[in-house]
Amino acid sequence: MVMRSKYKVVIIGGGIVGTATAFYLAKSGLNDVVVIEKEYLSSGSTGRCGGGIRQQWSEKSNVRLAIRSVKHFKEFQKEVGFDIEYFQGGYLLLAYTDEEVSLFEKNTKMQREEGLDVLMLSAKETAKRFPLIDLKGIKAAAYCPSDGHANPHLTTFAYAHAAKAMGVDFSTHTTALRILTQNERITGVVTDRGKIEAEIVVNAAGGYSREVGAMAGIDLPTESYKHQIFVTEPLEHMLDPLVISFENNFYIRQTKSGNFIMGQGSKDELPGHNIEPTWTFISEMAKKMPGIFPFLRNVRVLRHWAGLYNMSPDARPIIDRSKDLENFFYAVGFSGHGFMLAPAVGEAVAEWIIYGEPRSADLSDLSLERFEHGITKERNVV
Ligand SMILES: Cc1cc2nc3c(=O)[nH]c(=O)nc-3n(C[C@H](O)[C@H](O)[C@H](O)COP(=O)(O)OP(=O)(O)OC[C@H]3O[C@@H](n4cnc5c(N)ncnc54)[C@H](O)[C@@H]3O)c2cc1C
Repeated sequence: MVMRSKYKVVIIGGGIVGTATAFYLAKSGLNDVVVIEKEYLSSGSTGRCGGGIRQQWSEKSNVRLAIRSVKHFKEFQKEVGFDIEYFQGGYLLLAYTDEEVSLFEKNTKMQREEGLDVLMLSAKETAKRFPLIDLKGIKAAAYCPSDGHANPHLTTFAYAHAAKAMGVDFSTHTTALRILTQNERITGVVTDRGKIEAEIVVNAAGGYSREVGAMAGIDLPTESYKHQIFVTEPLEHMLDPLVISFENNFYIRQTKSGNFIMGQGSKDELPGHNIEPTWTFISEMAKKMPGIFPFLRNVRVLRHWAGLYNMSPDARPIIDRSKDLENFFYAVGFSGHGFMLAPAVGEAVAEWIIYGEPRSADLSDLSLERFEHGITKERNVV
């Protein structure tokens, strides 16, 4: 744990978004930065997530950020210097209803216009390509071979190690308690380990983004919801794509070491910070998944946990510089897709801080103010 009493930039949150932002700041020469994390790096949603990296979204802003992020994931080892178990096995989105087929057709058209190589497959073609999956009842599928997955812990640690090597400080087990303001500017952050003077503060607090916003008097319309997930023992490699169904409410992937990781959303969850795993989840998944993935019939579950989806009203992130406090940035509300968007988001937020504007991505569609004018919701969310 390292922490001085004064930094140019204080980043609150040591998940993928905070560490990626720190990395890109340092890479561009700004290393007078501290990341403060109330527990340990990757202890929040990032270390609890599925690790999926998907470019197939219904909203253009998500598609663009995801395409940019995939460029970084592909170059990760060269750019950041670590192996993060990145695997481009594709993402297969199963359509079980006519409505889903129409939605996927509309989405894939838009995604192709954005430059993504994505296909609609008939039910027959899907069965031919993926013979180990029981595709009973599907009408079609959308498939993008350049989607994939990676290990979220390794990715966070990689950004943190690389940022540290370039001079960024990390203060774990340090909680931000208050944000100090004067004349419409932030002047510092009070933590349980002392006060830090700051020229710029970044809210990358994941499931606690609203609470951290409130410390500066900014009302961020984010809410956190529990999502559960589990991992099985490893089996021989048999599943290339991450397979997902919005209608049947599941996603599953096989890690590079052979384990299967899978989860589903819960419709009855109330907002809050509860991350207690439940037996209902395991028993529902145990009933559903082996019917679709017969190779799971006798597999043993190793571990089951939960984390938070930090939802925004339109299920798209809020990445903005505050209009009320111009030295306060937020990259929050990732709504279940923050791991995969983090490289592009970290890069763009760092540019915004250093050059006064994001250069590699257009973030204008992700401002906080958009909620005042009516919104279109991201549809492709489990
Ligand atoms: C079960 C599950 C599956 C998911 N699957 C995927 C997936 O396949 N692909 C994908 O892209 N996304 C997925 N997500 C979403 C993804 O995990 C998040 O969008 C992403 O991790 C957000 O990263 P973050 O850095 O913003 O937040 P976090 O990783 O939560 O980091 C924020 C950090 O801030 C710290 N913090 C909070 N308050 C304070 C404070 N006051 N002081 C100091 N530190 C503080 C927290 O301890 C935390 O470590 C999933 C999420 C869950 C729960």
